[in-house]
Amino acid sequence: MQEQVLKILFIEDMPEDVELAKRKIRESGITFETYVAGNEDEFLRGLYKFKPDIIISDYLLLEFDGMKALEITLTYDDTIPFMILTRSANEELIVDAMKAGANDYLLKERINRLPFAIKEAMEKRNALKETKKAIGSLEFLSQIIEQSPYAVVSTDMHGTITSWNKSAERLYGYSANEALGQNISLVYLESDFVILQKDIIEPLIENGSNHKQVRLKRKDGTTFTGSLSLWTIRGRAGQPIGMVGYALDITKEKEAESALKESEERYRLLAENTLDCIWMMNTDLVFTYVNPAIYTMLGFTPEEWIGSKLSDHCDEENFRKMLGYAQAGMADPNNFTSITFQTEFFNINGKRVPVEIIGKVLTDEDGRTIALQGTTKDITNKLLAEKALKESEERLKLAMKVSEHGFWEWDIESDNFYFSPGSYKMFGYEDEEFPMSIEKWKEMMHPDDRKNIMPVIIRSIEEGGAFNFEIRMLTISGKWRWILAKGSTFKGENKNRRAIGTLVDITERKKAEEQMILARIAAEDANRCKNELLANMNHELRTPLSSVIGYSDVLLDPGNDNLTSEQKKHLMTINTAGCKLLNLVNNMLDLAHIESDDMTIRFSKFDPVKSIEKMIEGTTLLAKKKRITIDVNVHENITDITADIDKFRKIVYNLIENALKFTPENGTVTVDVMIRNDDIEVSVEDTGIGINESDRKRIFDPFVQVDGSHTRGFGGAGLGLVLVKEYLKMQKGTIWVESENGKGSKFTFRIPVSPLFRGNDI
Ligand code: ADP
Repeated sequence: MQEQVLKILFIEDMPEDVELAKRKIRESGITFETYVAGNEDEFLRGLYKFKPDIIISDYLLLEFDGMKALEITLTYDDTIPFMILTRSANEELIVDAMKAGANDYLLKERINRLPFAIKEAMEKRNALKETKKAIGSLEFLSQIIEQSPYAVVSTDMHGTITSWNKSAERLYGYSANEALGQNISLVYLESDFVILQKDIIEPLIENGSNHKQVRLKRKDGTTFTGSLSLWTIRGRAGQPIGMVGYALDITKEKEAESALKESEERYRLLAENTLDCIWMMNTDLVFTYVNPAIYTMLGFTPEEWIGSKLSDHCDEENFRKMLGYAQAGMADPNNFTSITFQTEFFNINGKRVPVEIIGKVLTDEDGRTIALQGTTKDITNKLLAEKALKESEERLKLAMKVSEHGFWEWDIESDNFYFSPGSYKMFGYEDEEFPMSIEKWKEMMHPDDRKNIMPVIIRSIEEGGAFNFEIRMLTISGKWRWILAKGSTFKGENKNRRAIGTLVDITERKKAEEQMILARIAAEDANRCKNELLANMNHELRTPLSSVIGYSDVLLDPGNDNLTSEQKKHLMTINTAGCKLLNLVNNMLDLAHIESDDMTIRFSKFDPVKSIEKMIEGTTLLAKKKRITIDVNVHENITDITADIDKFRKIVYNLIENALKFTPENGTVTVDVMIRNDDIEVSVEDTGIGINESDRKRIFDPFVQVDGSHTRGFGGAGLGLVLVKEYLKMQKGTIWVESENGKGSKFTFRIPVSPLFRGNDI
């Protein structure tokens, strides 16, 4: 071992004292060199340049002082031994110096002890230096461990925790105080204790280190996957004395790993099962992947397809188009997102299949193109549907074009109108000039119609549903046209509310309707006049007629002998004519009453057979004259009926009178009376001239007489059957006629036995 030269710095202004000290030290065999400082300057220079191993200082100097030197030394390097060498045995001063940090003191009188003191100080110094060094590196290490991002834990060989760093506190949730002294099983699940022993501790002791992924437990009971790295701590003899290790929470990585696997699996399943074809091509446009959908789409198996070139599957033109897209994408992959286009591929039989392709460029981390990837979809059906839609649209457009009706569509949100050519021609407009907004449309409406129609339109818009109205609209020439506007509001595909409808010019129809209304009003007016006239005639006609009939009756009295037979014959004619006229007037008045709705019915219960017989009695004169037999058949089930007796009689009388009138001499009239269900049925059959089929309906109309019957001198005004029909109608009755031309007629009527059966008001 090479001997060290001890560097001694003296602080001394007495050179003989220094010499003495040197001699004593030399005598002890210590190799040394010295530096002597007499003042502060020299001392500092010595401290920095000479780098002393020990400082021996006089306490009191002329230009310097030992306490000051001590202070400087301690701040410079507190390991340098500082020894006071003084002559005066001033106890107090020495105590102060020792307190201030001096290592030792020596009285000059005892200079012999100096070498021992130096040795002692140097030994102390070396020991101190060693400890300091050791402490320094330990502290450094423990600080590293303490601040380590890994949870570092050490135990003794029994597993008792001996250190627990900050990261361990964070990871496990136990503070160092809580963990120290506990067994390491603290962070293991009870069910994993076997693993702890068998898989962790035993291999660790055997191999000196161990790496494992295990489940670990936190203070709050939650678990995580930890990645453990463990080592044994060995003693001087190499025997294991403890264990140390760190753990990393890799739960997230684990989850991410399994999520990645799952998503890969999902993607694979999707790719294998989707109907769309998924493919990948390298930069030479050779397919490197395709999913099984290619088989359904084009008839190739993936094995056949993979390795083939894009150009193998399409014609020259389509290939060039796609090559263009691919080159554009590869040239600037980072700004190329994806492209969608339609093209055609050949299927395995060489047939063209229209497809839609979505393609994109795949790049590596440095942005270089590595592949092209995308999907291909068979759009045969889509194209067919589009074509069908287009055709039907075309048809609709054509239909609208040729139709003079208008068709319109209104996008309510945007107030955009579409009008078919018919719509604007209807108003005299050319396409471009046609008003195209609801506001303009409103302006064209007749003000009176507008105020009625706008609420209808608004309601339809708000509630949906159809509208239908007639409206006057202004044409370009300033004329009003009547328009029938029909429409409906509904939600369009893009959720826009739309109204769609038609316009039909109904001006002509409206005009005809107006004329009809006018004609009806005129007819009603005329009818009213006629009825009023007839009502007036009641008095004006009947009064003189009553005189004619009454006075001719008086003159015809059988007791009156003053008249010649010639005069009697004329009087008879006057009387008959008067009666006929009265009958006609009565009939006309009845009809007028019926038409003006002031004919009333009075119900009463009576025997119908008696009424019929009474009416027959009234016609015996005529019957006898024409030698016509009247038979009456009354069926057994006949009962009293409830009806208007007056009108019942008139009905029966009219029918019998007609039968007698239109039956030649020696004929027969048969009256049948019976009850059928809830009705009484009366028929009057004759053997007369009969009625043509074409006349059978007409005869129930006013003033209708079958051609020639009047001229044949049967008389009447064609009002009888009209009244009959009306009287029956009032009592919910019916009448019909059966007849054979030249052989006779049969009139049959029915009325309810009681008005109750027909719900008639009494
Ligand atoms: P009229 O007063 O002319 O009898 P009606 O209304 O009673 O008026 O009859 C209308 C017409 O129906 C008659 O003019 C006659 O032509 C025809 N008609 C009615 N009853 C008979 C009948 N029993 N036989 C043939 N024709 C008849």
